[in-house]
Amino acid sequence: MDLSIEQSCPSCGAPIELHEADRLITCPFCDVGNYLVSSGVSRYVLPDKAPESVAREDIIYAPYLRFKGAIFSCQGKTVEDRVVDTTHQGGGIPCLPVSLGLRPQAMKILPVAGALTGRFFQQTEKTVTLFTRATSQASLFSANESTEPLYHRAFIGETISCIYLPLYLQEGTLYDAVLNRPLGKRGEAIADLMLQAMPGDPAWAPRFLATICPHCAETLSGEPDSLVLSCPNCESLWAENEGAFQPVSWQILTTKRAGGDHLYLPFWKIRPAVAGLSLASFGDFLRLTNQPMVVTRKHDALDFCFWVPAFKIRPNSFLQLAKSMTISQMRITTGSTDMADMMYPVTLPSSEAVQSLKTLLADMVMDKRHFLPRLPSLTLQSRQTDLVYLPFTYSGHDLVQEHTTVSVASSVLQFGRKL
Ligand SMILES: [Zn+2]
Ligand SMILES: [Zn+2]
Repeated sequence: MDLSIEQSCPSCGAPIELHEADRLITCPFCDVGNYLVSSGVSRYVLPDKAPESVAREDIIYAPYLRFKGAIFSCQGKTVEDRVVDTTHQGGGIPCLPVSLGLRPQAMKILPVAGALTGRFFQQTEKTVTLFTRATSQASLFSANESTEPLYHRAFIGETISCIYLPLYLQEGTLYDAVLNRPLGKRGEAIADLMLQAMPGDPAWAPRFLATICPHCAETLSGEPDSLVLSCPNCESLWAENEGAFQPVSWQILTTKRAGGDHLYLPFWKIRPAVAGLSLASFGDFLRLTNQPMVVTRKHDALDFCFWVPAFKIRPNSFLQLAKSMTISQMRITTGSTDMADMMYPVTLPSSEAVQSLKTLLADMVMDKRHFLPRLPSLTLQSRQTDLVYLPFTYSGHDLVQEHTTVSVASSVLQFGRKL
């Protein structure tokens, strides 16, 4: 599900409607761009319709944790993937529904900001617990879950948010303030929890960065959901990290084809730092994964890199595309830093791409039965990460990469924008 959020413009205060994944907000009223700083957990409230007899400061907010993302499991002799989208009550409060179900997507939700005067129930459930539940929910669909040993599990491209359900008490009965419907009589447990409810933390409010190029002070641009912004003036790329824009090391391989029916897809090219096995050269990679290719001196002379899609797509397409590009890396030439049109937005951060490396390697090895048990003793980190845009040409329903002929269905990209 995709959430719709009503955010006020940080510059002029006008109401703007956002999608959950949006980071760059361009205000249609004052035309100023602001970039939403990543904060770990985004906090929202469902808008209430509490009667006027209830004072605003008597509204109490109950936390529901939400997990949305892909889970990869390396288990037995297989690599499995699942998409999980779930909300679960995180306050341990009696008489409340366990999940919000479809309610958050049926209305515009609001970010938790200074103007909310009510009190908030403490989040009693740790984010880790939520992850674990999301995992066990995913395992319901898995046939081999209970019998085969689990060697590695990764959460990739996940969003964790906290959505608060507003409540109020009237004559000893707890009410849902969205529907104005009674939830149950106040028991001792609720009375205790009421005492623990606290005002909101000012640090929960969304924070924004001015979209100004740190290098030349020109305005940065990008798609609303892009994690990398570009400066058309000095041809530099920037990603937010810890509240500031940091330069991104990047290049583009411009198309040699005439006509405009192409798209540049971004990949994280990651040269890994590996402990536990030898994976320095492309030759090492071919031997380890046992690809049906004769390993030559040319393969041994090339530094091995993972090529990971820098955009969200369905998990099985993510594995497939990373594998095809990584295996075809001999054919990819060096690019330039000339800005082009039709550059697809980066929607998967490099940190998430690095977290996926173990899963990707496991998926590329032919003999999984013997390789997967080695996963717990391996570490794969990044020695060098670059963002590389590769040209893909539209061909029927597919996009075909010019240098490698690797293809991806264009519908896969559409779907990924909503993940
Ligand atoms: Zn504005
Ligand atoms: Zn600039």
